Amino acid sequence: MSKPIIAIVGRPNVGKSTIFNRIIGDRLAIVEDKPGVTRDRLYGSGEWSGKAFSIVDTGGIEIDGEDEIMKSVRMQAELAVEEADVIIFMVDAKAGLTHADDEVAQMLLRSRKPIVVAVNKVDNFNRLDDIYEFYNLGFGEPIAISGSHGTGIGDLLEAAVNLLPDKEEEVYEEDVIRVALIGRPNVGKSSLVNAILGEERVIVSNVAGTTRDAIDTPFERDGQKYVLIDTAGMRKRGKVYESTEKYSVMRALKAIERADVVLVLINGEEGIIEQDKHIAGYAHEAGKASIFVVNKWDVVEKDDKTMQNFSSTIRDHFLFMSYAPIVYLSAVTKQRLHKLLPVVNHVSEQHSLRIQTHLLNDVVSDAIALNPPPTDKGKRLRINYATQVATRPPTIVLFANDPDLMHFSYERYLENKIRAAFNFEGTPIRIFTRRKS
Ligand code: GDP
Ligand code: GDP
Repeated sequence: MSKPIIAIVGRPNVGKSTIFNRIIGDRLAIVEDKPGVTRDRLYGSGEWSGKAFSIVDTGGIEIDGEDEIMKSVRMQAELAVEEADVIIFMVDAKAGLTHADDEVAQMLLRSRKPIVVAVNKVDNFNRLDDIYEFYNLGFGEPIAISGSHGTGIGDLLEAAVNLLPDKEEEVYEEDVIRVALIGRPNVGKSSLVNAILGEERVIVSNVAGTTRDAIDTPFERDGQKYVLIDTAGMRKRGKVYESTEKYSVMRALKAIERADVVLVLINGEEGIIEQDKHIAGYAHEAGKASIFVVNKWDVVEKDDKTMQNFSSTIRDHFLFMSYAPIVYLSAVTKQRLHKLLPVVNHVSEQHSLRIQTHLLNDVVSDAIALNPPPTDKGKRLRINYATQVATRPPTIVLFANDPDLMHFSYERYLENKIRAAFNFEGTPIRIFTRRKS
């Protein structure tokens, strides 16, 4: 169910972001090429040999203080060790084995995560001798790659996905709604979990240094079963660690993958920042139902326009998630808290909604009649037939004469018509155009 995470670790300048961009920029990556989806990516989705994964570039963590480079490398490694299922340890053939590489290796050795060594900057595959010294790292056969030429990356992914665990983790029953709470530190995730659970909350304290995933808390309310997937868990590691965006993103990513409904928490007191967008964007891309939860509403000075204004700010910032309802509440005073679970139930239903084929086709053909696809170099897209092939998220396939003639704006038009007819509130819709066979 949950997508495994592959993390790229290594000292600065070995080429992590180059390789990361090649992997997600490639045909194998599922990249949302739509306006409004943030471009500044920290993670991407990929698939290799039929295995889907998320990939994270742990580079670029910057912190102040002495020995900054080693500190930041150490943090990346810690991050990866904690959150990833497989680690790509990247080194640089041109620079050879360095002291910093050894330090990273020491940290990775202590973990029990599967590791594959990628030797980058092997621009000339006739000179594979350069990679042998990296056997000394102790992680088996290094794989030669070149970010500049794009060579070896298939071999690298092959090795990485072969190390992915097969584990199928927890399987909750179909009727359980899995809810993840995501948002930057201090937005009120723990407080909201406590507020929802009330006295039922079992306080699980955190032993420093223990590695484990998000805590799941099952509960039942008004006959509906839920599981809260709480990413707030490990917070006792100190501010630097916690405040790094990549750390939050990786934690959020894991929780989102396992959820049906994602509560995207926003701090009503402070407003929206870039990090909120990264996190929400992932819920969208992962095809999950989402709700914006504006927390700390108790401390916001309000008049009769405040909520409306806040909502339009959210809509402006999250253009790609106009389907997600917005709930205002306070986890501390519990003001408006009772509004939340009914919305969770509603978006979960919408996420699982299945539209009968004939109804869908009525809507699609009416939309086409009203506004036919524009011609492109004298050719016109002809859509013959629409069918919903999956739920969670609702996924619709349009069979057409030539899928290349489908434009983003026309797809968006059809999506709007489909939403106008069937609602699908709170859930992304996926639309694919296939050639009619
Ligand atoms: P990061 O700090 O590990 O993310 O490294 P970057 O991806 O930013 O790359 C560092 C530098 O190495 C950049 O100048 C890249 O252009 C260069 N680089 C990346 N891959 C290769 C490669 O395969 N061959 C060569 N010669 N240079 C590369
Ligand atoms: P987390 O890091 O997202 O889990 O955030 P916490 O739940 O630990 O909350 C961070 C801080 O915000 C704590 O001091 C909370 O008491 C406070 N807080 C959380 N929710 C609310 C709220 O609805 N109203 C107010 N006034 N403070 C809140």
